[in-house]
Amino acid sequence: MNGAGSAERRPSRRRRRRRRGRTGGPVAAPSSNGRERQPNEAQESRGRTGGPVAAPSSNGSERQPDESKEPRGRTGGPVAAPSSNGREWQPDAAQEPQAQEPQESWFGGIKVSGLTARALESMGYQEPTSIQGEVIPLVQSGRDVVGQAQTGTGKTAAFGIPLVEMLDPSSREIQALVLTPTRELAMQVREDLFRIGQYRGVRTVAIYGGQAMSRQLTALEQTAHIVVGTPGRLMDHMERGTVRLDRLKIAVLDEADQMLDIGFAPDIEYILRRTPRSRQTLLFSATMPVPIKRLASRYLKSPAWVRVGGDAEPVDEVQQVYYEVSERERPSLLDELLRDKSRITQALVFRRTRMGVDRLESFLRRRGHDAQAIHGDMSQAQRSAVMRRFRAKELRTLVATNVAARGLDIPAISHVINFDMPDNLEEYVHRIGRTARMGKTGTAIIFVSEWDFPTLDLIQAHVGDHLRPADPLSLRR
Ligand code: ADP
Ligand code: MG
Repeated sequence: MNGAGSAERRPSRRRRRRRRGRTGGPVAAPSSNGRERQPNEAQESRGRTGGPVAAPSSNGSERQPDESKEPRGRTGGPVAAPSSNGREWQPDAAQEPQAQEPQESWFGGIKVSGLTARALESMGYQEPTSIQGEVIPLVQSGRDVVGQAQTGTGKTAAFGIPLVEMLDPSSREIQALVLTPTRELAMQVREDLFRIGQYRGVRTVAIYGGQAMSRQLTALEQTAHIVVGTPGRLMDHMERGTVRLDRLKIAVLDEADQMLDIGFAPDIEYILRRTPRSRQTLLFSATMPVPIKRLASRYLKSPAWVRVGGDAEPVDEVQQVYYEVSERERPSLLDELLRDKSRITQALVFRRTRMGVDRLESFLRRRGHDAQAIHGDMSQAQRSAVMRRFRAKELRTLVATNVAARGLDIPAISHVINFDMPDNLEEYVHRIGRTARMGKTGTAIIFVSEWDFPTLDLIQAHVGDHLRPADPLSLRR
């Protein structure tokens, strides 16, 4: 039993009321792409909107004491290295714009400002990736763009570079908005944009549920050129008047197919309606099911569609294997696999339900593994602490719901283990895309039990020979 009865998606009453109000009647059950609506962990609730966040530090920050000496960026020197966890920290302070912007430079064949070139260099970006090479000039020319490219191929900078370049740092308006499905992804994207814009004086603020409103308000008051956020909390700010998007130039939906799917669609509609019609709109994802493509056109003006790689195609560098294992034996198979410490450096294990995640975490810990859980029932402070440890490689195994399925960039993950089968092809592609990023290699494993064969067939029909049965001798005597 894995607690399948515990609904993963639990919109607050307030949220449900809102949604009905806006869309007229309850949301239809099947998703717009024809799939049944699944319990969707990767949908953020608004989180608490007032009051203190659970267990903040005394100054209301989630930063740990040992991070307190981190450079905040304003005080001088290049800010390149945010802490290893990098993502949690929200300085709200990009460097001041340099007095004299150096001459224009080139990033591969793309013209960028000298300050952006310097930032990219400090990040170790020497050449644009394929998606960046194709998308950046289109965005710079003012086009709406849908960018589809495999996981881990640099989609963030594909929108991040032109975003940072096109903003006016001397203005106090919010000029760009990036929406993401989860808080962790919002923090990560904010960090990437902060780094790309660090020398141009671009201020990027993350807005997401579970963090104290007051902290976000302070950041917003200090000027935000780019807001990166999850829809629910952003809507709270919009309703309070603390975020105004009437001068927005660019809106980006990261993980666009999820953002336009039924769970988020009404929120996206609400938000985008309150932005200027003249805005430029950019959509990015590794997957773009046909029905979502159709839906997307409603927000786009004669967009350029750019696709790098096949449709929903995992990268070649990920080795995909499956184990046939009875339901009951899955925990001990995982235990056994995880004992191979030389091969599995960091593992991300997916389960369908929050309760299932908690149970598996306890099981693994009882067996002596260094494992922690992440899911939507945890406080944001707990979630952030776990992510920080995992990013810093202080934690070897992260057991997660789909809250960790999309977008997260943690290069040291060597293995993604689908302990519970993903519900559909897109979910599989995103989950396994947490490994083998940016040319690295990685392994994706599926545990297949009695009831999982139809989904396995579906995945196999798409990925073909790339997915093979694991060699039983490789791990089991
Ligand atoms: P995606 O959104 O396509 O899944 P990300 O934007 O998260 O991928 O990028 C994956 C990784 O590649 C990140 O660690 C990012 O810093 C790195 N990266 C992005 N662009 C470049 C580049 N041009 N050169 C080197 N590394 C890059
Ligand atoms: Mg991404």
